[in-house]
Amino acid sequence: MTQYVYRFGGGVSDGGKGDKNLLGGKGANLAEMASIGLPVPPGFTISTPMCTTYYDEGEQFPQGLRDEVANGIAHIEGITAKRFGDASDPLLVSVRSGARVSMPGMMDTVLNLGLNDATVEGLVAASGDARFAWDSYRRFIQMYADVVLELDHGAFEEALEVAKEDRGFTLDTELSADDLKALVAEYKGLVEAEWGKPFPQDVHDQLWGAVGAVFGSWQSERAKVYRRLNDIPANWGTAVNVQAMVFGNMGETSATGVAFTRDPSKGDRAYYGEFLINAQGEDVVAGIRTPQYLTKTAREEAGAKAASMEEAMPAVYAELAAVFDRLETHYRDMQDIEFTVERAKLWMLQTRSGKRTAKAALKIAVDMAEEGLITRDEAIARVDPQALDQLLHPTLDPRATRDVIAKGLPASPGAASGAAVFDADTAEKRAAAGDSVILIRTETSPEDIHGMHAAKGILTARGGMTSHAAVVARGMGRPCVSGAGSVSIDAKAKVMSVGGREVREGDTLTIDGTTGEVMAGSVPTVQPELSGDFGTLMGWADAVRRLKVRANAETPHDCRTARDFGAEGVGLCRTEHMFFEGSRITAVRQMILAEDETGRRAALAKLLPEQRADFAAIFEVMAGLPVTIRLLDPPLHEFLPHEETDFADVAKAAGVDVDILKRRAAELHEFNPMLGHRGCRLAVTYPEIYEIQARAIFEAAIDVAAASGAAPIPEVMIPLVATRRELELMKAVVDKAAKAVFAERGTTIEYLVGTMIELPRAALRAGEIAEVGEFFSFGTNDLTQTTLGVSRDDAARFLGVYVEQGIYAKDPFVSIDVEGVGELVKLAADRGRATRPDIKLGICGEHGGDPASIDFCESVRLDYVSASPYRVPIARLAAAQAALKAR
Ligand code: PEP
Ligand code: MG
Repeated sequence: MTQYVYRFGGGVSDGGKGDKNLLGGKGANLAEMASIGLPVPPGFTISTPMCTTYYDEGEQFPQGLRDEVANGIAHIEGITAKRFGDASDPLLVSVRSGARVSMPGMMDTVLNLGLNDATVEGLVAASGDARFAWDSYRRFIQMYADVVLELDHGAFEEALEVAKEDRGFTLDTELSADDLKALVAEYKGLVEAEWGKPFPQDVHDQLWGAVGAVFGSWQSERAKVYRRLNDIPANWGTAVNVQAMVFGNMGETSATGVAFTRDPSKGDRAYYGEFLINAQGEDVVAGIRTPQYLTKTAREEAGAKAASMEEAMPAVYAELAAVFDRLETHYRDMQDIEFTVERAKLWMLQTRSGKRTAKAALKIAVDMAEEGLITRDEAIARVDPQALDQLLHPTLDPRATRDVIAKGLPASPGAASGAAVFDADTAEKRAAAGDSVILIRTETSPEDIHGMHAAKGILTARGGMTSHAAVVARGMGRPCVSGAGSVSIDAKAKVMSVGGREVREGDTLTIDGTTGEVMAGSVPTVQPELSGDFGTLMGWADAVRRLKVRANAETPHDCRTARDFGAEGVGLCRTEHMFFEGSRITAVRQMILAEDETGRRAALAKLLPEQRADFAAIFEVMAGLPVTIRLLDPPLHEFLPHEETDFADVAKAAGVDVDILKRRAAELHEFNPMLGHRGCRLAVTYPEIYEIQARAIFEAAIDVAAASGAAPIPEVMIPLVATRRELELMKAVVDKAAKAVFAERGTTIEYLVGTMIELPRAALRAGEIAEVGEFFSFGTNDLTQTTLGVSRDDAARFLGVYVEQGIYAKDPFVSIDVEGVGELVKLAADRGRATRPDIKLGICGEHGGDPASIDFCESVRLDYVSASPYRVPIARLAAAQAALKAR
């Protein structure tokens, strides 16, 4: 027979902390605390499967449950020596929900259950405090009417207010026993008038009503929304905890409070919390009275007058502090606790692992490892790598109010406020004048780069997580919200409309690239500061990880940032990104638009010296580390001129007529530029492009070797290869350039030639491609696009619905689709290794910075992951966690 009721307290514990799935978090931990001898009011938990059974049986309680609950009540009666419904000394209980994971404020609670017209007199006699007894009855009716009977709670609040006003009082506590007795009569009248029946006097009816309400709250609208937002399955159900009441409102030696065993926001090793004398739990939450500090130090630091618990109740405080320590050593983690003091006796009502900020998570993990409470490996596993973003970027002040006007994709983390601007030139001008600006574009293209650089944040209406804006912003470390579909942008009129509101140039706007929120006005931000704990934990992580971590970076500045964050080389230098700035983009356009090889060579000749200088600077910053340079891979639409002025600039630089240029651009127009004349296809048709780039790489490497004595090892990478033959042709171009440069300079350097694996055909034919390629780097952005047949730039329009419908668990451009794309990666890795056992394997798609994808990379034993500079620390920690998991 299935057991539904699990007892705790008085030396009995039918469950323990391992039973969260069965008893919910609260129930499991109450049982655990009872089992280690902590003072827990006796009670029982109705298990979570009962919640599902209750719904399956048409919201009925099976007879077996009724019998088990009767035993549970008998258990509480036995320990408390009070009887449920006894008119002389009644047992009162609380009824609380408790799911597997905490769902704060989502579900219902009923306190003081078991009071009726007869038992309230018993409570008067037993407590010797008529005011307390009538106040408890008053609270009970009010809560029961709200939670179980679902009557309008406003009517009860109003009756309470009127009762105070009539007597000229301001505080609830000024009401006498007789006042409260009169209020109870009034409340009962309200119930009967609204519900059509008198307030239930049978304590068993009260109990079943409350249990039903807790189960009912699992299916409330707000609970459903919370579950959807937090991926909590509906069939988990909630448990119900029925527990003997203890009273924090029995006078000046009674109190109630909440506490953390360490500071949850900074992580300091200090008890942290609040309490209220002569109050019940809901008073602390309701914020009617200002709670007092737990410790003397905290009170003094806050400059508060009201005595701390340490000062007001020293003996109970000492006992509580001992419980904190006991709980921390027992659970080996920071705990979030609820307690009540009833007439100087301490009772524990809840404990659970406390939620904490990223800063606190780091400090607590490092401290606990150094205290010997947990191992270093456990410390590594305790910190959520994604949360490190909070430490590396400014975040919104959590206390500030936000006027959210739109939501897009969290494309690049961090928060920023500034004046709205609608074009890159204005962004640059205003930034140069000292303004903070947010650049708003329908989508970005290379000609926006200077504006993106100048802006504090970027907002686009279109584009997914691997769109131009997202990739470039992440590389720069600029906060970015992309694909905010609900906003429409009129760049000419310099206005953005969203939900009937307008944002004009100069209006202040805030974006949060960590959540995707767009807010009107300025929301204060908090600056990050990297503590010593960060370095300590990273050091521990580095010692256990197997995967190397490189960076996707193409400027010396980004390479420096990446190196400072611990990057062990460059995994992807997108050379087309090196052409975004200034006069270079004109030369690139000139090259693309040229009608013949002579025209292209003329344009390339302008680019060669600049590119050589860039490569040299990157080799210097990355001295001693590998640098993977990818030859040109420009999806043409990102580089073709769009505006009149662009055409004029290119025409002037090339000495060609504007109309000829426009005709040429029209000829080059592609329907699917992402699948068009890009990647190695460009150099298969125009080999001189790769020849000149390869030349720049080798000349730079030799220059740096001569100047510093340390020869860099360039890894030359060919993009968008589908066949062995393509790679063979391209490798021949690179080798030829190398040979020529080495002959001219009279020296040689080591280098590798490899390929991106970013097309399904390349993955399938990896065995023969590895005969030519000396390394593979998985370009999972394109591999996702081509495997799923989903355009990177258009995905934002429908992928959200796909994720909501559970078609993909997460955005496959953010977290690798292990079953599909992952299968191809694994297959290519296996086939590549079969041909060339020592082939170097890495990943440089955006997935290289995503913890779940890094875990996958560890499972197929890639050699390295490469992520944008600000995600390097995240990748280091995630790689360590993956290695620990794989042990
Ligand atoms: C990729 O496709 O994964 C990749 C890294 O290349 P890009 O994003 O530049 O196409
Ligand atoms: Mg690619």
